[in-house]
Amino acid sequence: MLLCPDRACHQALVREEKRLVCAQGHSFDAAASGYVNLLQPQDKRSKDPGDTAAAVAARRRLHDRGVTGPLLEAIAQIVRPAKSDVVLDAGCGDGFYLGTLARRFGFEAYGVDISIPAVKAAARRYPEYQWIVANADRFVPYAGGSFSVVMSITARMNAGEFRRVLRDDGRLLVAIPSAEDLIELRSPSGGEGRDRVDRTVETFANDFALTDRRKATTTAQLEEAAVRDVLLSIYRPMRSQPVEAMRVTFSLDLLLFKPLFKPK
Ligand SMILES: [Zn+2]
Repeated sequence: MLLCPDRACHQALVREEKRLVCAQGHSFDAAASGYVNLLQPQDKRSKDPGDTAAAVAARRRLHDRGVTGPLLEAIAQIVRPAKSDVVLDAGCGDGFYLGTLARRFGFEAYGVDISIPAVKAAARRYPEYQWIVANADRFVPYAGGSFSVVMSITARMNAGEFRRVLRDDGRLLVAIPSAEDLIELRSPSGGEGRDRVDRTVETFANDFALTDRRKATTTAQLEEAAVRDVLLSIYRPMRSQPVEAMRVTFSLDLLLFKPLFKPK
């Protein structure tokens, strides 16, 4: 099911002892900790190689404090995963959402992220699932129609590739930070411009139709160290006051899509 990420190749990857190889001889190491690195030289040069180890660890601590639990429940309610599902999380980060849902519902789980520290953390925490380091903005390294569910949770969006790897009867979840997300920490000037939900629906309009939409919002009273973790785990303009204990809002717009059928 895994495909070679080389843009002139895209042939099936076959597992050998400590690596994966395609028929053209491109070879990728399988780390001892269980993940596979499919990054291409051009991805490694990218100025946006994804989350740093510090950001990954900070986000994991927030998950472990239970702060994001209500968001996870809302995602479970809109996606309604079944045991028979095969789920790709594109931009899986440390694997919290995918790994937790997979253990609860028993589906097959596949996570892709461009950040090596994030995928390493996911593979360590949820070793029973498949974790891949790859640049999904370029190519989602799986055969067409591999998945019944694709999720993009506050991650990048590659509509064409999501459609290709999704079955015709599959569903796509896109979660984006809502206008209220971390409002206590954002600079007042902000200015959201056009609604992000509208822009996102437009991004997918060629390949997908919106079937459900919900907002998931929770607040948590965070101590100083936790507020610092929030700041570490995200990248957006922040006010520059010293960090203090405070109540913080976490909020996602959840968009569920179905694929449009397109004759090939
Ligand atoms: Zn190849």
